[in-house]
Amino acid sequence: MATVQLNNIDKVYPGGVQAVKGADITIEDKEFVVLVGPSGCGKTTTLRMIAGLEDITKGEIFIDGKLVNEVPPKDRDIAMVFQNYALYPHMTVYDNMAFGLKIRKMPKVDIDMRVNEAAKILEIESLLDRKPKALSGGQRQRVAVGRAIVRQPKVFLFDEPLSNLDAKLRVQMRAEISALHNRLQATMIYVTHDQVEAMTMGDKIVVMKDGLIQQIGGPLHLYNNPVNLFVAGFIGSPPMNFIKVRIDQEANRSIAVCDEFQIVITGRNEKLVKPFIGKELVFGIRPEDLTYVTKEEKGKTFRTQIEVVEPLGAEIHLYVNLGKSRLIVRIPPSYNPKAGESAILLPDMDKVIFFDPETEKALKDE
Ligand code: ATP
Repeated sequence: MATVQLNNIDKVYPGGVQAVKGADITIEDKEFVVLVGPSGCGKTTTLRMIAGLEDITKGEIFIDGKLVNEVPPKDRDIAMVFQNYALYPHMTVYDNMAFGLKIRKMPKVDIDMRVNEAAKILEIESLLDRKPKALSGGQRQRVAVGRAIVRQPKVFLFDEPLSNLDAKLRVQMRAEISALHNRLQATMIYVTHDQVEAMTMGDKIVVMKDGLIQQIGGPLHLYNNPVNLFVAGFIGSPPMNFIKVRIDQEANRSIAVCDEFQIVITGRNEKLVKPFIGKELVFGIRPEDLTYVTKEEKGKTFRTQIEVVEPLGAEIHLYVNLGKSRLIVRIPPSYNPKAGESAILLPDMDKVIFFDPETEKALKDE
């Protein structure tokens, strides 16, 4: 299998759109790397440059240590699974899977062996004689993956392969692709705009916005240590809550103040906020780091108004109003809150992340 290295990659399309800016990404052998970000952030363009389907404007791409900038797609030893699957409608499932090998003039017995083995892995052996139109969405998706597997490529590329499936099937196929990765022990690069897919599948996640890589890291690292407001808001569902506060100093303690609360800042943030006394910061807290309590505690809790209660069975999501901000709180299912009531919340100050509203960067230790 193979490593993939992107060094300072730029892509400017004819007409001047700069889709990717200075991308540096290292993908280790056997790693499952997810490129994630909102529509138009440049993830598909990045994948297509790795595949050789798009010219690179600047920078270098190496596959297995070999510079591939000028190597045509067919010689890069990669296989790509597209969003629309791109199956040949007039061919059977078997022929769809065998086609790439046939044009490479592989002996028939070898083709047969590879197609049957891939069909077994994907549990589509009984569908080999069917045409794509006689398949469900999930089955078509498996055939598209099968077509990639038979090639035994160095690297698998996936471009939003699950986006045409319904929600339930997407969850199932997500687990199947992860299992496939474990089984094949292959290098896989996967593009999605869905942060849940990224979190659940990726060994490593590359978060992109406006052509720029925002942060690269493991799912939990990104969740717990987002570098900026964008990553903090993008990774995690329901998303992180953001509250604009001013930092005041009172009797040697730093306090986060807004119209509705005054919370004493403790823990590692105490030192981080010192340079911001008298200035504004964004107070970021995840929905599960707000505890629903019955007693108010000065300097520790704040009061909100419950607007919506969403009982989800295993947990409850509360949408509460704090002045003009709306926050989301995750609480255990044993509570019975009602819309219109007030809710007292206790933020876990060890989990709060402060952001500088000017740079949008998270405050962190040097
Ligand atoms: P999506 O999730 O919508 O597919 P994406 O993150 O994959 O988005 P890209 O498809 O890589 O984004 O597009 C990045 C930017 O490049 C966008 O602004 C897009 O409009 C532009 N772009 C993409 N393809 C071309 C093209 N062939 N010519 C000109 N501009 C393009």
